[in-house]
Amino acid sequence: MKLLEERIRKDGLVREENVLKVDSFLNHQMDIGLFEEMAKEWKRLFAGCPVNKILTIEASGIGIATIAARAFSVPVIFAKKSQSINLDSDTYSTKIQSFTHGRTYDVIVSKKFLTPHDHVLIIDDFLANGCALMGLLELVEQAGAVAEGVGIAIEKGFQEGGAKIRAKGIRVESLAIVESMDAKTGAIAFRNQ
Ligand code: 5GP
Repeated sequence: MKLLEERIRKDGLVREENVLKVDSFLNHQMDIGLFEEMAKEWKRLFAGCPVNKILTIEASGIGIATIAARAFSVPVIFAKKSQSINLDSDTYSTKIQSFTHGRTYDVIVSKKFLTPHDHVLIIDDFLANGCALMGLLELVEQAGAVAEGVGIAIEKGFQEGGAKIRAKGIRVESLAIVESMDAKTGAIAFRNQ
């Protein structure tokens, strides 16, 4: 998606250790006009899929997932990170290793909100090693729901997550795929889609 690529080139900052900082428009300060365009694009890409629920993970997925949910006219659920192991029979839970924080979290979703009747579109800001998505897919599977696909804002194509998730037969639509980035020069190259 050209609009997102241009914005990443203009305002994205390449940091050491493969981190792309986009906090001026995506995951700290949020540009809602841009989110609306992204949501429209996911809506176009997943037209014809019977999506009735959007699932994301706190915190940085929530903004974009909310605007996407508006475009699909469906509810949005966020998986909650829980550090205290306070897991009960009312929740589905799994463990996710955080790329940015290097920690492992338990994440939970209430059984009330994810059921075998659900056709779920998963939305997140980044796809890097794929740990967050694997965890979210595990929650969908525990619920007996159907994963219709995944919408990602920025996939880092040089990390393994995209290949891993697609190899499971899951449809992944990333609006911008970064092929390479250089912390020294700040250069960012995108994959042609
Ligand atoms: P994964 O689980 O695919 O390795 O990483 C996905 C999660 O890590 C995303 O939800 C996102 O919050 C965070 N993340 C991964 N790579 C980056 C990055 O380059 N920049 C930022 N800001 N967050 C990232």
